[in-house]
Formats: sequence, structure tokens, C-alpha cells
Amino acid sequence: MAQLNKQPVRVRFAPSPTGGLHLGGVRTVLYNYLFARQHKGQFILRIEDTDQTRYVEGAEQYIYDCLDWCGLVPDESPLHGGPYGPYRQSERKAMYRQYADQLIEAGQAYIAFDTSEELERMRQENKTDENPSPQYDRHTRMTMRNSLSLPAEEVKHLLDAGTPYVIRIKMPEDETVVLQDLIHGEVKFESALVDDKVLLKADGMPTYHLAVVVDDYLMKITHAFRGEEWLSSAPVHVMLWKYLFGLDKMPVWAHLPLIMGPQGKLSKRDGAKYGFPVFAMNWTDPKSGEMVEGFRERGFLPEAFLNMLAVLGWNDGTEQELFRLEELIQKFSMDRVHKAGARFDFDKAKWFNHEWIKKGKDEWLYDEMSRIPGSVFYQKEKEFAVRVIGLVKERCSLLTDFNEQAGFFYHSPERIDADAVKPKWNEDKAVFFRRLSERYATSAAWNAQQLEQGFKELASESQLKPGDLLLPFRIMLVGGKFGPAVFDIAGLIGREQTLSRIHTALEQFKSRI
Ligand code: GLU
Repeated sequence: MAQLNKQPVRVRFAPSPTGGLHLGGVRTVLYNYLFARQHKGQFILRIEDTDQTRYVEGAEQYIYDCLDWCGLVPDESPLHGGPYGPYRQSERKAMYRQYADQLIEAGQAYIAFDTSEELERMRQENKTDENPSPQYDRHTRMTMRNSLSLPAEEVKHLLDAGTPYVIRIKMPEDETVVLQDLIHGEVKFESALVDDKVLLKADGMPTYHLAVVVDDYLMKITHAFRGEEWLSSAPVHVMLWKYLFGLDKMPVWAHLPLIMGPQGKLSKRDGAKYGFPVFAMNWTDPKSGEMVEGFRERGFLPEAFLNMLAVLGWNDGTEQELFRLEELIQKFSMDRVHKAGARFDFDKAKWFNHEWIKKGKDEWLYDEMSRIPGSVFYQKEKEFAVRVIGLVKERCSLLTDFNEQAGFFYHSPERIDADAVKPKWNEDKAVFFRRLSERYATSAAWNAQQLEQGFKELASESQLKPGDLLLPFRIMLVGGKFGPAVFDIAGLIGREQTLSRIHTALEQFKSRI
């Protein structure tokens, strides 16, 4: 891989705790994690909570819970500690100021006293058709109240009087800012088009732009992988690296492709509109009480969820789609991540889950089932559940499908689809099933093989085709035309249940057919 720094690899996931974790966020975690493990490096979780107005109660805990569920546990974080802490930016407040001061001294940043009314006036006064949202930049900065436009004495006076101020970067007039990105290649930005972003706010807190650069430096981050929505902020970050620490110290960048929904960038609203989850786990907004469904509660296995995310924008150059985490750690490479947005397809996501259910051990699936509310599998002993899971898993794409597919192992069907039997039902068949239940009542062994043999013998004695009798038998036991092999079902539900279901169904067929 190009540009691999010599230092030990250190990558970070740096979310702002503003709400639930979108599947794009989990993919960013995953790619960071894979890269760190592949290079025997460290994966750091940093909480970027400098914007206290956007802070949402519970969002940080939710991030830990998601990472736990996915098994992508960070090496360093506010929770796990580490040598470069604190890992929560609000607790690092005192560290940033000196860098902002250093920039002011070098003439690369300045103090700005403008009130929100003054900023609004500037936007109104400069608004034109060509420039509908004027910025605080090289065109406007000298018309504003800042340490570049005001005489030094006035600046001093305002500071002495305790006037609130922010510190802004002074973007150069005509510099081409170049960024080498592992996915996008060389990306160029004209500094003249970038505004003078606020670096330090009036309350002394840094903004994201200053904090992200200072912390990546102090935490010795070697590679910074984040969503493509941050690409437009990158020129400010590159300039700060250049001014503060030197470009040779800057991490290697990769801006991960957007995840696309049915119409444009995938959003929370798409989830509600099309009925699929977009968050890793259920997320309830503490203010509105509104709940957004998660993949976890929808019945996804974390392995399948990660597998699906890994290939959302990446492949290993072959047709292979199913990957274990260990294999991903071996094979993942940033230069095989596509530049174009990756389309999320919920049916495909379910396909991944189905594949993982099919290949998963029945015992393991039993344990995973514990988080499905009202799961039937806990109504009886584990051994029984594990055998049921083995029989029905082929038919389940989601863990939540199991209740429907396995319910009849635990209770007799609530409804029997007599209409499906009706057209071909006759007295000979009724006699067959009465005799079958007599035979089953006294048969010595009770297992699928013996039951099938007894069934076939009786069919031939009765001169009926076993094939014509199987559907009615299934409907008797299951209630409908679904489920695994019918003798496996009878074998598992046992003699008493099988006989009782045959009798109940015969009564119903008599009265309704
Ligand atoms: N704090 C940013 C976020 O909320 C992180 C961007 C970055 O990784 O630089 O996603």
C-alpha cells in the first residue's frame, strides 16, 4: 500500500454523539478496525463532543453498545482508556487553545468579534443571485470586526472589556490545497473558495476542525478514514496540518464512499419510507421519544451485518461475497474500495443474513435468539430448541422469522388450512389417518425414520399413494403448507401432540369439508 507510514498504525473512529449509529458509521468503524488489525496496529474511538448544543443523552453509550454487538471493540477509548487520553474532546478543552494562539501569532488565524446580527447582516448585504450564501472569507473579512480589520488598540480594548470573540482560520488567497486520498487519489481544492472557518468558539471550546487536527496529531493517528461527507472540510484540515505540525506528519486519508438509498444518499427517512433499518441497533431519541429500528432487533446476526457492510463499497477482486471477519482482516485493502457511492439493497442484506443463518451452528443461533423478544425457543428446554432450529433455519432469513417457522413445534396450530386439503379429501383418506393414529399410538419407537416407514406401509396396505397423503398430514401438524420434512416434525413434537393434532384436524375436516 502506498504511503504507509513507518510508525505503528493507529486509526480512529471519531463520532459525534448526536444520535444513533447509521450503517455508514458502522462501515467506517469496520474499515478502520480491519485496517488496524491487518497492520497489527491500534484502533481508537474518540468521542467528538465539542458541539455541546448537538450533544444527545445516551448517544455515547449507544456507540459502545453497537461496537460491542458488532465485536469491533476499540483498543483505546473513553471507556477502555489508553495512553493518549482523555478520549472525549470535551475533557481536552484546555489542550486546544495554545494551537489557536500559535496560529494567531503566525498570522494564520485571527480574532473575530462579530455578533450573530452582524454576521446575518453581512450575509444579507452580500447576497446576489450568483452568490446566494456569502461566506466569511477573503471577500468579506475586511468588512467585519476582527483583528485584521480593526486597529490593534481597539482589539486590545475589546479584549480587555471581555467582549466575546471567536478565532477564525485565515484561508490563503490563492493556494491549491492538495490531498492524497487512498480512494480518490489526488484531490485539489482552491483555498480562495474556502471560508474562514471558526476554530475556537466564544466559550473557549474548539470547533470540530481544530479539534480533529490537534487530536489526530496528539494521538499519533497514522491513517484517517472517514465518510466522504467530510471531504469538503478536508482543505481546512490540510491547511491546519501544514500550519501547525507539518504535512509530513499528516495522516494518510481515505474518504469512504457514500451509501446510497433507493433515491440518493441513504437517510433515516428512507428507512421509515421503505421499511428497512438504517441504524445498527434500535435508537430512541430521548427528546422526541421517536424510535428508529436497528438491524440487531430486526433479526440480523452481527457477522452477517458486518459481512454485508464490508462488501458495500469493497470487494476482493473475485466473485466471493461471504467473508468471515478473520478473512476480511487478511484481505481488506483500501485501494479496492470504490470511489462511487455504494447502493444499499435490503434484500441483499437479508440474503447475507440467510447465508449466515444457514451456516451457523444451531447452538450459536439459539444463543443469538435470546435478544428476540418473545422468542418461542425459551418455552422449553434448550436441547429441543436446538433441534428445532436445525430443522427450520433453511427457511429463515432473519432471526425474527424463526417464531413463525418454529411456532408449531411449541403449540398446536391456531388455524388449520382446511381449504388446501378440501379438493382431494375423501373417506379413504379419513380412514387412513384414523388407522395411522392407531398405529402411531402403539408403535414402539418414535423417530422420523420409523414414522415414515409406518406411514408408507399403511399407505400401501390402504392402496393409497403416500404422495397424496403427505400434504394433509403436514396441514394437520403445521396448519399450513410450510415447514420442514413432515416426519421430522412428528418425530420432534412427540406422540401425544402428533395424535392430538391428527384428531383435531380430522374433526375439522369432517365438519368443514
Ligand atoms: N466527528 C466527525 C463525525 O461526527 C468525524 C469526522 C472525522 O472522522 O474526521 O463523524
